[in-house]
Amino acid sequence: MEITEFRRAGHDLVDWMADYLNDVERLPVTPEVRPGDIRRSLPVSPPRTGEPAEQLMNDFGKLILPGMTHWGHPGFFAYFPSNASPPSMLAEMLTAAMGAQCMSWQTSPAATELEQVTMEWLRQMLGLPEGFTGVIQDTSSTATLVALLTARERATGFSAAIHGLQGPGQPLTVYASRERHSSVDKAVRLAGYGIESLRLIDLDDAYAMRPEALEAAITADVAQGMRPAAVVATTGTTGSTAIDPLRAIGEICRRHGVWLHVDASYAGSAAILPEKRWMIDGVEHADSFVFNPHKWLLVNFDCSAYFVRDVEALLRTFSASPEYLRTAHDAEVVNFRDWGIQLGRRFRALKLWWVIKSYGVEGLQAILRQHCEWAQAVAGWVSVDDRFELLAPVPLALVCFRLRPRAGEDLAAVNERNRELLARVNATRQVYLSHTVLGGRYTIRMAIGARATEARHVEEAWALIAASA
Ligand SMILES: *Cc1c(COP(=O)(O)O)cnc(C)c1O
Repeated sequence: MEITEFRRAGHDLVDWMADYLNDVERLPVTPEVRPGDIRRSLPVSPPRTGEPAEQLMNDFGKLILPGMTHWGHPGFFAYFPSNASPPSMLAEMLTAAMGAQCMSWQTSPAATELEQVTMEWLRQMLGLPEGFTGVIQDTSSTATLVALLTARERATGFSAAIHGLQGPGQPLTVYASRERHSSVDKAVRLAGYGIESLRLIDLDDAYAMRPEALEAAITADVAQGMRPAAVVATTGTTGSTAIDPLRAIGEICRRHGVWLHVDASYAGSAAILPEKRWMIDGVEHADSFVFNPHKWLLVNFDCSAYFVRDVEALLRTFSASPEYLRTAHDAEVVNFRDWGIQLGRRFRALKLWWVIKSYGVEGLQAILRQHCEWAQAVAGWVSVDDRFELLAPVPLALVCFRLRPRAGEDLAAVNERNRELLARVNATRQVYLSHTVLGGRYTIRMAIGARATEARHVEEAWALIAASA
């Protein structure tokens, strides 16, 4: 593509993007396609000769767009949001234009230093204690794996283990609540603990970890000769945004010398609201903390903020400096390639910087606060409609509800009725909600957080649900 063609197509593309952002509401939020439809519409072999830019855009509009789920649609209430924003989109274009690979300070000094600055800004915005240092990871799943790898290295004495001085050692154990995210199980397996080392801790009535049960599990394991290595506490579980009690959990971890990793993937963003800081009370006991600006802080996927207290432990786990990567500045600078799994790194700090600059902390606070208020409104409508009931507290912007059981109706039947209701609502393609199962009960989840969502969309969504019921 010649630069003249790029310029023309680029201007057209930005116009298209602005129209899309204005009009996405008129598109169905989910596509009406069956598995294989899109693939069958595409050539099986690559084109032998190049095609003009118009052709690329035409094919995108004709073949791809109709097969997209629109996460930025104001009727998107499924899963957790992944709420992009205009300044973030522009920054992603700049990042793409420069195409820098930000593995070391030397390979793009501004990328490294901006990452340090924006992560410190985030630390202040969330009210995380001083002494936490941040690094951007691609996703929370990766950050949790990084945490469990570091915890394992620390528990086995770092280089002692590398040089085989440790012998077979004690079996290590990891703890998380029954409502933990599946990425914890994945990380336990990938980090080499073995899935049998993962202890699932019982829940209280609000689906949060019971600290007494954690203490009992750790004590029992120690008595059996195990070495408890890590606890993963969840601030805002994926099922219902349950908040594990960090202070009590943290005190147990301190007492037993166990690494505490806090998975606040979704809820962490809400800590920019002073009135939600109670969620992370006790976080000063944590060794690591992750949250996803790519979920609820208007930063395009992907951008996961990982904070760690003992940077030395992280570096001892991940640093590797072969000759071809050494630079003259290594002693004075941070090389983020040593702070995680991958070598190559995208320039993710730029979009984070632009989002924070463009909205300001107060602008971001106002948006999140509104989402939480609308969720309270939905919770109120659920409560006053006697066909429905809430299934979990609503501390943030996720509402978990279902149709109440009828007299004499068994669990399977009421679950089936709720499954049908969700299918009917989603079949309109005006809104998209998802589900989970809480305590055996089929649960409809309505997560408010798309940037384009306004009060009227929330009202219309509830009206649709109520009418469908
Ligand atoms: C979304 C989520 C994750 C996974 O996040 P990724 O960035 O997609 O890996 C992990 N834990 C919780 C609690 C989540 O809500």
